[in-house]
Amino acid sequence: MSGTQEQQDGPGLDEIVALCKRRGFIFPSSEIYGGVGSTYDFGHYGVLLKNNVKDEWWRAMLRDRDDIVAIDSAIIQNPRVWEASGHLSGFSDPLVQCLGKCKRRWREDHLREAIAAEGGDPAGEIHCPQCGGELSEPRQFNLMFETHVGPVAESGTEVYLRPETAQGIFINFKNVLQFARVKPPFGIAQIGKSFRNEITPGNFIFRTREFEQMEMEFFCPPDEAGRWHEHWMEERMRWYTELGIRPGNLTLREHGPDELSHYSSATSDIEYRFPMGYSELEGIANRGDFDLTQHAKFSGEKLEYFDQQSGERYVPHVIEPAAGVDRALLAFIVDAYDVEEVEGRSRTVLRLHPRLAPVKVAVMPLVNRDGMPERAREVYRSLRERIGAEYDQGGSIGKRYRRQDEIGTPWGVTIDGETAADGTVTLRDRDSLTQERVPIDGLADLLLDRLAADWRGPKPG
Ligand code: ATP
Repeated sequence: MSGTQEQQDGPGLDEIVALCKRRGFIFPSSEIYGGVGSTYDFGHYGVLLKNNVKDEWWRAMLRDRDDIVAIDSAIIQNPRVWEASGHLSGFSDPLVQCLGKCKRRWREDHLREAIAAEGGDPAGEIHCPQCGGELSEPRQFNLMFETHVGPVAESGTEVYLRPETAQGIFINFKNVLQFARVKPPFGIAQIGKSFRNEITPGNFIFRTREFEQMEMEFFCPPDEAGRWHEHWMEERMRWYTELGIRPGNLTLREHGPDELSHYSSATSDIEYRFPMGYSELEGIANRGDFDLTQHAKFSGEKLEYFDQQSGERYVPHVIEPAAGVDRALLAFIVDAYDVEEVEGRSRTVLRLHPRLAPVKVAVMPLVNRDGMPERAREVYRSLRERIGAEYDQGGSIGKRYRRQDEIGTPWGVTIDGETAADGTVTLRDRDSLTQERVPIDGLADLLLDRLAADWRGPKPG
């Protein structure tokens, strides 16, 4: 995490946490037992939003192109996978512990980065940021969660919960080549849970021990790797901005030589201006032929591509865009969060891209009489089949609008006295607050057209 330049005009993390709790997006896990520290459960709207984020990623990887295929590999894999990948020996962070009063544990690299960000000497002596105490010598702490398969925990039964989804892709390279009828350049994409025993989880869902990743490994001829690395950096930046993240809050930061992972010849991180400062959203790495070569060596299988036309045999190079579902979701919420004054009252609104919004349209009878609820339910049912709709009858209309604004619902439809007379409803726009009379006939098509249209949020970039 580079952690510099805090978002001055954006919301604080505490406001985001409060909104997520208040509107049922995200709750602390095991709350009735006092929680379990930096683990979270997703409520109804959180699940819908998360599904939309993942669906947009699948759209960009699969539906909008034809050179990528999908996979869903197991969380528990043969431990040799982690030997070959280098995770068993090298997937560790430097842990230091306070020897003074508080005894807290820290990541030494994060402490040094924070000092550098404040203009200090990162190589100098460091102390506990909590109580100023002396710190222990750093010790490498492996982040993989270990468990045992079978009824007896004995030597030889250890397995690991995967710390990334990528290796599940490399070990299936041969299967995919054989069955998906692909040839380089092509990609294999996966979304799934990963687990890391982080020393210092925190900043809400930014860093947790259980999270979801969206990773794609793009296999190409070695001499094309540089070009594809450029391509994927551009594509991934475009994905975030097309889904509404303001370009001014994103940067692409190239790793320095001392920062590069053992497998990478070049990596750039897409960083977002989170409330705690610029931090990694996604890494885009040129992994060369490291992974396929390692797995070929450890498994004894040939993991290469034979081009029948040219008679050439080679180990493809790999470009990897690796993103976090939870971090992306947090960035989308932070960027969409807005508080504005409307007619002397403050309104909190999530200006989410309509395609990401958990609910697309709320259907609301204005009052509970004159057959309005029945009519509203009919309208709701006609929309529900075509577009994510919610029926909302509780409380004053103002209160219902406030609730829908806070969950980011782009459109509201009210059924009122005129509806019965002329078959029209009021359509309210979340961002412009305009209200227009539109016929019920064709309403679903109108909303689907607006959903498909290009969207630029009302906030300056
Ligand atoms: P960091 O430097 O923040 O620890 P990383 O560089 O180790 O992250 P990668 O291994 O590149 O992360 O993982 C790819 C993506 O997975 C990250 O960009 C991030 O979005 C997500 N991710 C990684 N670790 C976590 C975590 N502990 N909690 C939530 N998301 C994570």
